[in-house]
Amino acid sequence: MSLIKCPECGNEISDKAAACPRCGCPINNPSDDQEKIIMSGLCNRVKNAFFVQNGSALLTNKRFIYMKHSLPKTFVLGAFVNLTKGDFEFDIPISQILSIEDGKQGISKTIMINTVDGLKYNFYFTKREEWKIAFGNLLKK
Ligand SMILES: [Zn+2]
Repeated sequence: MSLIKCPECGNEISDKAAACPRCGCPINNPSDDQEKIIMSGLCNRVKNAFFVQNGSALLTNKRFIYMKHSLPKTFVLGAFVNLTKGDFEFDIPISQILSIEDGKQGISKTIMINTVDGLKYNFYFTKREEWKIAFGNLLKK
């Protein structure tokens, strides 16, 4: 066990603490290896100008996970497809994400994920601003 300083009040606390016992500030524990979901929601992958894959996504402290909805499922369930979990398609470890930037799909704004391998993944999110902030916070670390 080692001691770290509380970012809020400066109190010396254990690096295993979930929160500062003095001020209650939550501690983001670097030694905590557990995967935690930060954001989840509808996410459509823009493959090109003519094809958008309906799906949903999870952003965890370790990776971005994209799950696609199958085409038959989309037809059968229509709008309700948004309430179902899709099939796992792929994930991108946070360490592989070089940056995110604004993209476009028609008149809609998207988020483009640039990987260290030079690949670009374009996604349409319903709560785009919230996703941008979540990505930004993860990439800062
Ligand atoms: Zn504190």
